[in-house]
Amino acid sequence: MYDVYEIRKQFPMLDGNKKMQGKPLVFLDNASTTLKPQCVIDATNRYYAEMTANSHRGDYDLCYFMDVEVAKAREAIAKFVNSEVNEVVFTSGDTEALNLVAYGYALKYLKEGDGILISEAEHASNSLPWFRIAELTKCSIYFINTDGRITVGQVEKSLNKHPNIKLVSIAHVGNVLGYRVDVKAVAKLCHRHNALICIDGAQSVPHLKTDFKDLDIDFLTFSAHKMCGPTGIGALVAKEKLLNDMDPFITGGGMNVSFKNDGTYLLLEAPAKFEAGTLNLAGIMGFRAAVEFLSSIGMENIEEHEKELHAYLLDKMGNNEDVIIYNKDNDGSILTFNKKGVFAQDEATLLNSKGIAVRSGQHCAKMIDRLLGTPATVRMSTYLYTTKEEIDVFVENLLNGGDILDAYFND
Ligand code: PLP
Repeated sequence: MYDVYEIRKQFPMLDGNKKMQGKPLVFLDNASTTLKPQCVIDATNRYYAEMTANSHRGDYDLCYFMDVEVAKAREAIAKFVNSEVNEVVFTSGDTEALNLVAYGYALKYLKEGDGILISEAEHASNSLPWFRIAELTKCSIYFINTDGRITVGQVEKSLNKHPNIKLVSIAHVGNVLGYRVDVKAVAKLCHRHNALICIDGAQSVPHLKTDFKDLDIDFLTFSAHKMCGPTGIGALVAKEKLLNDMDPFITGGGMNVSFKNDGTYLLLEAPAKFEAGTLNLAGIMGFRAAVEFLSSIGMENIEEHEKELHAYLLDKMGNNEDVIIYNKDNDGSILTFNKKGVFAQDEATLLNSKGIAVRSGQHCAKMIDRLLGTPATVRMSTYLYTTKEEIDVFVENLLNGGDILDAYFND
């Protein structure tokens, strides 16, 4: 394990000076985005202060240095998720990576009569791209019959029922309930049924050791900003053969070998053929710093820390009858709840008045309300720097923090 108080010293937002509503910040919205350690801020700044130049576009030293930085970052990300280096495509984030699979792979290979399998617990970014592909190709969308926790058995039932399914796309860890899927077993099953599997890793790669090769999945997507990295950068990791077969969905500079006035063109090999335009170079440098930072702590240690916090949180909450918890039995960092008789947004506003950041609403998963039987919930989510003291502040304010009027007529 690690010393969480030592780790916190590396995060400027956690230096004790940051206040919300005049109260010390208690940041419990880590499923939405995460705070940044100084090493990530420094790496990002280094691009602007010391290294500004484009990559792949010049013959002078600074350009060459940027090429080296991009290559090193790609290597670091490949190492972090155990993939080959040329299986890593830089994208603007998880959303763009999922859209790249949709428009680069599914649009090209799926047709009327084929099927895509998702679940009602998926984030908009892992739902809408498939809805668009269904519109464009006339393929069908099927939903895993689940109460929110996706099991291998449920996926198998769907695959047996719809042998036309060609692609399964699910989150490794759901962003509303935080349940973890047995991805390795599901991937095996998908391949037995001749379907590819795309894993939305937005909520898993930041929290669990992720081994792309061992899981034997076809596509993996994630965002740097949910794992201590900068916004505007993320990755699609995909098997080399699939990347070679896929088409880019944006085209332009930096990804072609040549093009002529007869409309013909030749593209670079993957991953470069998917990276049109100037890359988010500062973001890429920060992304590398983020994965190296996480590795220096150890993903197993981060997972252990979050588990310990989860147990502590549930213990502190006790069996309070005023609070409905929707995912007591989840495996990690997300607790989703409602206070009886209190609208979720009101509860989040009240907690905000105490300096506590949580998320309320549907959390971009707008089909899950049917599974939960409620239109909105409050979600608190921890990360590697969350402390038991912060949990104490949260629980105390949740259980004894007064009501929504306190948020307006300061207590
Ligand atoms: N998928 C899941 C499960 C998420 O939690 C999120 C973000 O909340 C996304 C996709 C989209 O990530 P981004 O907005 O970083 O592209």
